[in-house]
Amino acid sequence: ERALRRYPAQAIVDLKALRDNMAHLVDVVGGPNSGTAVMGVVKADAYGHGLVPAALAALAGGATWLGTAQSHEALVLRKAGIGPDRAHILTWLYNGAEAPFGELIENDIDISVGSLDGIDAVAAAARTIGRPARVHVKVDSGFGRNGFTPQIFDAALAKLTRYASEGVLDIVGQWSHLAVADMPSNEEFVAATDAQVENFKAFTARMEKAGIPPRIRHLANTAATLNRPEIHFELTRPGVGLYGYEPDPDMGEPSDWGLTPAMTLQAQLGTVKDVEAGHGISYGRTYLAEEDTSTAVMPVGYADGIHRSASGFNTAGAKGIVHLGGPVRLMTVDGPRIVRVSGRVCMDQCVLDLRGKASELGVREGDTVVLFGPGRGEVYAEPTADDWARAADTISYEIFTCLRNRIPRLYL
Ligand code: PLP
Repeated sequence: ERALRRYPAQAIVDLKALRDNMAHLVDVVGGPNSGTAVMGVVKADAYGHGLVPAALAALAGGATWLGTAQSHEALVLRKAGIGPDRAHILTWLYNGAEAPFGELIENDIDISVGSLDGIDAVAAAARTIGRPARVHVKVDSGFGRNGFTPQIFDAALAKLTRYASEGVLDIVGQWSHLAVADMPSNEEFVAATDAQVENFKAFTARMEKAGIPPRIRHLANTAATLNRPEIHFELTRPGVGLYGYEPDPDMGEPSDWGLTPAMTLQAQLGTVKDVEAGHGISYGRTYLAEEDTSTAVMPVGYADGIHRSASGFNTAGAKGIVHLGGPVRLMTVDGPRIVRVSGRVCMDQCVLDLRGKASELGVREGDTVVLFGPGRGEVYAEPTADDWARAADTISYEIFTCLRNRIPRLYL
């Protein structure tokens, strides 16, 4: 605890929430015997929640697959003792010949192949190791990022069938990613997702015709896991849902989808002081105190991953621009109060305008404040990462994924 006091902010991760979120997602696909498995997407340090603890919580909740973008994260999971008997692991992002395909194959990690060179490189590594590589064929059904387009798929199939017949590649799966599944109310986007599904199926048909039918097809992210049961196939890949958020706040609140945000970001206040009306706050004088007030320093800034775009501007200070800064809940003698980042977010800190006198509010240096959390309950409701996303003009994913290691993760 003493070591932790050196860190004036902490991200508390509720492992039970992670486990329950996964258990709920497993229920959504019809339970453990439905024929659809669920992958916990734990890339990017489990969206900032901590790779191994989050992966273990996902498995405890019923996930049987884990997915990482970078191969080193997949290897970390195996090194942490998550063996092939406990979870399949798929990894999908690597750069050409530099990728540690041999190590991945030795560690029973499934590999995505989405380029002709990639197929050759994985096959070469499998040949060297003397064991077939388990691969998932990535197809570009319309996302326009990784994967084979229909135009080059015949060339891919020629390579895949040859390597499969030589026993070098085990063609486990076929997969793709959706671009707009998180906008179920937008007709144009629904049509775009429908088109992706049709394209995906056309790729499957071509694999079947080539004699390499995929055993596991997967397309659904959190959004499609929640609202497109017809495309769950044999596996779904929720990420943000595991961490307790719906992909887009337009879809409603996390609780509407049976999800609980797992991370609470809190900080202990630094200097609390009175300032007079008109006092400029932080770089650029984008915020001027509108009345006599108190301010409190919150010891997190953009070096911690707090978005500078969540700065607060008021009319007086910022040439007519008004922008509400990131919301923060603090406790006062009258109960909880939401205050906002006032002025520019700095590298290590930002300033809150308490909109009242600290002495009257009972706010003091060292008090714990909450930037975001599950948002539960009426009285103590704190902001959520969605609220910060609104203030920073981004998405919740970026809010928690950007948090740097200077903010220790504590596990409940
Ligand atoms: N699958 C792939 C390939 C991804 O890149 C991601 C994340 O962006 C996911 C699944 C999970 O998406 P979401 O967090 O929206 O559920």
